[in-house]
Amino acid sequence: MPTERLYQEDCYLAAFTATVAAVDSDGAVELDRTAFYPGTGGQAHDLGVLNGVPVERVAESEDRVLHWIAEPPGPGQSPKAFVPGQAVHGEVDWDRRFDLMQHHTGQHLLSAVAEDLYGWKTESVHIGTETATIELAVGEIDAAALGELEREANRRIQQNLPVHITTHASPEGLPLRKETACTGPLRVVSIADLDHSACGGTHVRATGEIGSLLCGRLEKIRKNMRLEFACGLRAVHLARRSGQWLHEAAAVFQSGPERIAQLAVAQRDQLAAVSKRLRVLETQAALRAGADARREQVPVDAIHCAVRRVPAGIEDEERAFAQGYCGTEAVSPNRAILLTLAAGTGAFLLCASPDAAFDAKVWLAETGVRFGLKGGGTGAMVSGRLGDPARLPALLNSLPSPVVELPPGTAR
Ligand SMILES: [Zn+2]
Repeated sequence: MPTERLYQEDCYLAAFTATVAAVDSDGAVELDRTAFYPGTGGQAHDLGVLNGVPVERVAESEDRVLHWIAEPPGPGQSPKAFVPGQAVHGEVDWDRRFDLMQHHTGQHLLSAVAEDLYGWKTESVHIGTETATIELAVGEIDAAALGELEREANRRIQQNLPVHITTHASPEGLPLRKETACTGPLRVVSIADLDHSACGGTHVRATGEIGSLLCGRLEKIRKNMRLEFACGLRAVHLARRSGQWLHEAAAVFQSGPERIAQLAVAQRDQLAAVSKRLRVLETQAALRAGADARREQVPVDAIHCAVRRVPAGIEDEERAFAQGYCGTEAVSPNRAILLTLAAGTGAFLLCASPDAAFDAKVWLAETGVRFGLKGGGTGAMVSGRLGDPARLPALLNSLPSPVVELPPGTAR
């Protein structure tokens, strides 16, 4: 049996009596009539109580409105509080509902103003208890246009324009802003002569009850712009919260809120320059550390082979250390080959002195198949990953001289 939707006749009905029509196997309670909005058309569903039991969710199932109450019973059981034929007293959480009504009517108004001022059509809407948004068919919105949109919407709110809900047999001949797929009967929400939209949601009686409308975050979505907005007390809370964030940020910068963006940009650029300089200094320090480590080794006439273990991946610093170790600035002649191994990740780096007569690329090609190495590089330096760590001792034995173990590298 279709549920009689009391909220469609009277959006301000917060308490009502009804009779339980059925209780579904999953605990959903169907009433013969209800003031609970089931959450369609982008507007969130209502909460409240039925005979004092909290309603957790309300949804539409074809022409029925179903209410899920707290603590659903086991499979196949009816909720003990509700049986078919029983009389119930329902109360809608009015603060939550009125906030949603303000936002839903605010959305109609904002959509109308956006289209009348700029020709931006509304593609989709979301009226939630945390955020409300409209998706406008426009690729970009600048601050001036956003300000004008907000100003005009608030001007219409101040005019306290009446909001009427009427029912029609068909959409034929109606001045609807957007075409509807509904053939009838049709519920039309009108804001004076400003807007006429087919809608099944709940709305306030006059635009003055929207209170205020604050445009918030803008976000690119597909080819459109999604605009967040807040009405009534939610707008006041949002403005209060945003002001608090600005105040806190201004305190960090020891400046007025109007200079935060300028100071933040300056500090970001300064940080980028310092970071770049730091990377240069770290590379220079690693080159020197590599050269120093090489000089600590007892000179040998033959090729000198060493292994150095580092904790994480092979970073730029390890490359610089290896270049310092194998460079001619360290000792001359050098004839060093350094294998750097990253514990855990299996990453490796092999660097050879120019005077070692050792082609790292050829070494990688020849040993790669035998020891499961994958990687690439130049004749002076190759890097990659060990396929099988168990073959590492055999890999070290394949180097031209016995391998000296260097003190391990430290994590940054
Ligand atoms: Zn609506």
